[in-house]
Amino acid sequence: MACRPNVYESGYEESRFKTVVDENFYCSICLNVMKDARMCHNQHSFCRECIEEHLRVNVQRCPQCQDDLTVDTLHPARVINNMISKLKIKCDYASRGCPEFINVEDLERHVENCGFAPVLCSNEHCGLEINKRDKIKHETELCEYRKIASHDFREISEMFQRSFEDKMEMQMNNLSRKIDKKFFEVKDSVKPLTSQYKEMMESVVENVEQNLSTVTKEMME
Ligand SMILES: [Zn+2]
Ligand SMILES: [Zn+2]
Ligand SMILES: [Zn+2]
Ligand SMILES: [Zn+2]
Repeated sequence: MACRPNVYESGYEESRFKTVVDENFYCSICLNVMKDARMCHNQHSFCRECIEEHLRVNVQRCPQCQDDLTVDTLHPARVINNMISKLKIKCDYASRGCPEFINVEDLERHVENCGFAPVLCSNEHCGLEINKRDKIKHETELCEYRKIASHDFREISEMFQRSFEDKMEMQMNNLSRKIDKKFFEVKDSVKPLTSQYKEMMESVVENVEQNLSTVTKEMME
C-alpha cells in the first residue's frame, strides 16, 4: 500500500479545473490531476513527488506493474505534461477572491504575482493579513495603526489650534453682543421708573412744603 505524501506536494485537485479532465491524467497515488508527471518504463505515470516518496518510503517498484523502479530510472512523462500544461486551472488564491483561470504552465508565475496572495500589514502592532494588492492602501489609509508623519502631525495640531481660536473669537463676539443688548434693555426699562420716582418725590416734597407753610401760617396767627 502506497504511503500518501504530504497534501501540498501532490497533484492538482479536480475541482480547480475549468473543464472535465481526461481520466488518463490522474495520479493513482494521490488521485489528483498529475503535477510534473514521471513514469516507469511501461508508461505508468504519477506525480513526481508522489512516486519519489513511494520509492523512498515503501518499495522500489512501480505501484502498477510491480517492475523494479528507482528515482533514477523514472522518466519524465512529456506528452502527458504537455497536455496538462494547456488545461485551465483556478488560481491558488481563488478562495481569497482571485477570479482567474490560468494555463497550468503559467500557474506558478501567476501565483507569485497574484494580487490576492496573503501578506501581513507591516505597521507596528497591526499584523492583519490582507491581499497583496490592498497592502499600500491598507497601510497608508485604512490601518488604524498607520503612522502619521511628523510634519503631518504638526499640520494637524496647527489646524486644530486655528479652528479652536476661531471658535473662541466667535463665541466672545456673540457674548459681547448679547451683553450690549441686555444693557440697553435694562437701561430702557429703568428710565421710566426713574422719572416716575422723580415725579413722586416732587409731589411729596410739594405736599410737605404746603403743609409746612400752612402750619407756619397757623402758628403766626
Ligand atoms: Zn500524485
Ligand atoms: Zn509501471
Ligand atoms: Zn490569482
Ligand atoms: Zn494594518
